[in-house]
Amino acid sequence: MTIRGAVQGVGFRPFVYRLATELGLEGWVRNSAAGVLIEVEGGSASLEQFLLRIERERPPRAFIQSLESSFLDPVGFDRFEIRASLAGAKTALVLPDIATCPDCLREVLDPSDRRYRYPFTNCTNCGPRFSIILALPYDRPNTTMRAFEMCQACRAEYENPLDRRFHAQPTACSACGPHLELWARDGAVVATRHDGLVRAAEALRAGAVVAIKGLGGFQLVVDARNDAAVRELRRRKAREEKPFALMYPSLEVVKADCEASELEERLLRSAESPIVLLSRKRREQERGAGGAACPVASIAPGNPYLGVMLPYTPLHHLLMRELGFPVVATSGNVSDEPICTDEHEVLDRLGHLADLFLVHDRPIARHVDDSVVRVIMGRELVMRRARGYAPLPVRIRGAGAAALAVGAHLKNTIAASVGPDVFISQHIGDLETPRAFDAFRRVIGSFEALYELEPSVVACDLHPGYLSTQFARSSGREVVAVQHHFAHALACMAENEIDGPVLGVSWDGTGYGVDGTVWGGEFLRVTGEGFVREACLRPFGLPGGEAAIKEPRRAALGVLYELFGDRALEMAELPPVSAFSTRERAILARMLRQRINTPRTSSVGRLFDAVASLVGLRQEVRFEGQAAMELEFALQAVACDESYPLPLGAAPSGASDAPRRLVDWAPMIEAILDDVRSGRAVATVAARFHNALAEAVVAVARDVGEAAVVLSGGCFQNRYLTERVVRRLRAEGFRPYWHQRVPPNDGGIALGQIVAAARGR
Ligand code: ZN
Ligand code: ZN
Ligand code: FE
Repeated sequence: MTIRGAVQGVGFRPFVYRLATELGLEGWVRNSAAGVLIEVEGGSASLEQFLLRIERERPPRAFIQSLESSFLDPVGFDRFEIRASLAGAKTALVLPDIATCPDCLREVLDPSDRRYRYPFTNCTNCGPRFSIILALPYDRPNTTMRAFEMCQACRAEYENPLDRRFHAQPTACSACGPHLELWARDGAVVATRHDGLVRAAEALRAGAVVAIKGLGGFQLVVDARNDAAVRELRRRKAREEKPFALMYPSLEVVKADCEASELEERLLRSAESPIVLLSRKRREQERGAGGAACPVASIAPGNPYLGVMLPYTPLHHLLMRELGFPVVATSGNVSDEPICTDEHEVLDRLGHLADLFLVHDRPIARHVDDSVVRVIMGRELVMRRARGYAPLPVRIRGAGAAALAVGAHLKNTIAASVGPDVFISQHIGDLETPRAFDAFRRVIGSFEALYELEPSVVACDLHPGYLSTQFARSSGREVVAVQHHFAHALACMAENEIDGPVLGVSWDGTGYGVDGTVWGGEFLRVTGEGFVREACLRPFGLPGGEAAIKEPRRAALGVLYELFGDRALEMAELPPVSAFSTRERAILARMLRQRINTPRTSSVGRLFDAVASLVGLRQEVRFEGQAAMELEFALQAVACDESYPLPLGAAPSGASDAPRRLVDWAPMIEAILDDVRSGRAVATVAARFHNALAEAVVAVARDVGEAAVVLSGGCFQNRYLTERVVRRLRAEGFRPYWHQRVPPNDGGIALGQIVAAARGR
């Protein structure tokens, strides 16, 4: 566990000692340049209490700017001790952006304070960091605050060692700092300062879409209770069904709409202040526009979760207090482009999306999206690592030469190693547009400048067609191409601080295999030497290739064709078949028969698609992973412990590097067809399917015989699947590991690539 912030020299270590001893935990605490490091071991209930009480009961002067915890293997300590501080060079640590602290919030809300209603208030305990740093060392002239000269009052605080703002680099007040302006679509200034904020709130109340320049970029905001306004935002963004995140005025209002555990509450109120996925409360009837609750049908259609965050800057606090109701707060971008950060660009880029623009003149040095976390197995799992987390390092064993990793293609992040520290960039996004590719190059450039990197190695994906791979190839440096699913497993091993051998279960939508086919249901035995593909999902054809990612019905046809050949195209009673016209079916039959534009895949993500299509849940998706998500949501309606047969068979002998075993979905698909034809509830089919996947993991784990099993890849964002697999593996005597600080999706690939480069392969 690492805790950063003003926690040194204020009785923090004795406090930790007392708390750990009281809870009967063993381990140690020590100071380091990176913050306070704590390692404790004991029962899981005591560890959970420890984590919650550290923040709740900390000494009053100890402010926590970041608290990252990971659960690791026990070491076997016999007592708790305070260890000597770690000496050594102060690593150039760039802190993430930190949510407004209670002291600053109090000032902003106090009519007698000189910072009353000042939306850019901050102190050494809170405020912008990563989003304003231009260069190191972290001094005001090296931040985007350099254009603002401090007034006398601010300078006096800045120079007073006893003041909370002593050397607070972005400190400012309404006399000397940045200011708000409210702009119309044509750029005309409608209002300024607090009046601008009040007018923006009025417009929101009236149903307008307002673009707000936040901490790491623009957000598009509408009244979440106003169904027509939410739908209008969807129409303008051409975002049909992907869930929107919400910002709530307070935890109390969140709790009216959502269930929140103690850990989820801690996350909502943390210095990182991420979007937390919460189960929404089921109500007999949705409250109307008068209440705090909002109509969720248009915010997150068909989704039992809501992505919720609390205000994290004074600007957000002031606005949310003015409003008193939740708002949709989604990234200010067009489809999957990077978030817009510059008010001089915003009218061009978002002019057609918003009615008004609440802007300010503190420049954003780099885009930083809101982070997304959820709780799985009682632990935090970061699904999008950006504001509040980036660029904190993950420490790896066996550091090699300085390396840069360029990630994969979707949900791209990059990473750089400096000694044992791996700095993972903020979420960049899908490298699908020129703007996204520009952002990717900018982030690499700024990382190289910030950390003075001179990487000798550039690690990339094995896929020759990825833009990130081509970037690596054109860098003029030594390139290490890392197989996608191997990188997933290595990332999960690295953050759990384990070495091989392990069984790596890497399940996702797509990744380039060493045999040139599309992998995604992989069981890799990972050792110090590399990996062996022990088993994979039985492959099937994907008619249309890329088109199949958007159309689950194509994956279903691929599976059916494997079983029934041409007959599959005549099974018009099945949803995936009837979803195509007779003409389309004829074309698809030819493609499947002659394998025209029909790549073979072992992807579990595509198997999810096939099953979602077969049960009639979804034939075409509006965003990546939608069909799999809906299958996960469907099973929540039942408690079902049964599973379909999903046996482990021998692979047909082929190339020497072919897997030994195949997970054969044929008996399962036959059973699903029986259930579909007999009208079995979708919820039951979904549960049996998930349970079968968990049994398949257990079967392969037994076959391979490694005690440690590592779960990675986008499929393990699925909470039910992950928890079921973890429980079943534990019950069978295995040691399962999953992601905590780094996303299981392709946002974690860059870390795995760095580890592979450090291993020299
Ligand atoms: Zn503060
Ligand atoms: Zn000032
Ligand atoms: Fe992946």
